[in-house]
Amino acid sequence: MSERFRTAEADAWVGRKIECLDRGFVYLVDYMGGDASIVQAARVSYGLGTKSVSEDRGLIRYLMRHQHSTPFEMVEMKFHVKLPIFVARQFIRHRTANVNEYSGRYSIMPDEFYLPPLEQVTYQSKTNRQGGAECIDEPQAQEVLRILTTEQRRVRSGYDRMIELDVRRELARINLGVSQYTEWYWKNDLHNIFHFLKLRLDAHAQYEIRVYAEAMAQIVKAVAPIAWEAFEDYVLDAERFSGLEMQAVRRLLSGQREGWPEDDEVFDALPEAWRQTTAEGKLKRNRERDEFLAKLQRLAEPEE
Ligand SMILES: Cc1cc2nc3c(=O)[nH]c(=O)nc-3n(C[C@H](O)[C@H](O)[C@H](O)COP(=O)(O)OP(=O)(O)OC[C@H]3O[C@@H](n4cnc5c(N)ncnc54)[C@H](O)[C@@H]3O)c2cc1C
Repeated sequence: MSERFRTAEADAWVGRKIECLDRGFVYLVDYMGGDASIVQAARVSYGLGTKSVSEDRGLIRYLMRHQHSTPFEMVEMKFHVKLPIFVARQFIRHRTANVNEYSGRYSIMPDEFYLPPLEQVTYQSKTNRQGGAECIDEPQAQEVLRILTTEQRRVRSGYDRMIELDVRRELARINLGVSQYTEWYWKNDLHNIFHFLKLRLDAHAQYEIRVYAEAMAQIVKAVAPIAWEAFEDYVLDAERFSGLEMQAVRRLLSGQREGWPEDDEVFDALPEAWRQTTAEGKLKRNRERDEFLAKLQRLAEPEE
C-alpha cells in the first residue's frame, strides 16, 4: 500500500481563510499530494526507485523546465472561494477546474456587493484598454464610490421586493449586477493551477482577480514548495524569446564587442551554483548549466 502524502505546512492551510477584497475570501478545503506525489508519478514513467531529497528536487525542476507536465497533475487542490461575479467570470474561463457554485435559483442571494478601495478608482489607461492608470482625484473617486453604492442599493431593494412578492428566485435575481458576491468550490490540479496563477498573478491581470491569485499562491507554495520554486524560476520569473527577438539579441550582443565572449568569460558569468567543483577539482555535472550553454551556443551559431 502506498502512503498518503501530506505535510504539516499544507495541513496548516486547510480551513484557514485568507480575506480577499472587501467581503471575499479563499481557503483550502482539501488537497491531495504534494512534491512527493509529483516525484512518485515521474519515477513510474522513468522506472526509477526512491532517491534523495536533492535528487527529487532536481527531478521536479527538470520536469518543469521541460514541460513534462502530467506528474504535476497528480496534485489536486480544492478551494472554497467567495468572490464578486465579475471576478468569477474571469475564473470560470479556466476550463480545467471543477466548479460548484452557490445557486441563486435555490437560495436568496446574500446582500453583499463589492466596492473597490479608493486607490483602485483609477483613470482608464491610454495604452492598455484592459487596464487602469493613475488615481482619479479624491472628490471624483468618492463620487464613483457613491454611484456604485447607490446603484447596488437600488437593485438590491428591487430584489428584496420581488422576494417579498414571492417571485421565483431565479427570476428575482436577474437584475443583480456583477459586483454581487457569489461563492463556489473550485478544484483543480497543480499543473492547471500554475497555468491559472501564471496568467492571473501577472501585472496585466485585473487587480481584483490578482488578489485571489496572490492568496492562492501562498497556499500552493505550502502544498508543493519545491514545485512552486521551480514554477517561479522557470515560468513566473522567466522570459521566452521569440525567433525575431533571438535575432535582435544576437545582433546586440555581437555589436557590443569584438566577436563572442571567450569560454572563460562565459564561465565566470555563470551563477555560482553552476560552477561548483568536486573534491578532485573537476567541474560538477549540472544539467541546467549545460542546457544554458547550449542555448548560448545556438545564439552564437544559429542553425541554418
Ligand atoms: C490578461 C487577460 C486578458 C483576457 N482578456 C480576455 C478577453 O478580452 N476576452 C475573452 O474572451 N477572454 C479573455 N481572457 C481569457 C483568456 O482568453 C483565456 O480564456 C483564459 O486566460 C483561460 O486560459 P486557458 O484557455 O489557457 O485556460 P484553461 O481553460 O484552464 O485551459 C488550459 C489549457 O487547456 C487547453 N484547453 C482547455 N480547454 C480546451 C478546449 N476546449 N479546446 C482546446 N484547448 C483547451 C488549452 O491548451 C489551455 O491553454 C483574458 C485572460 C487574461 C489573463
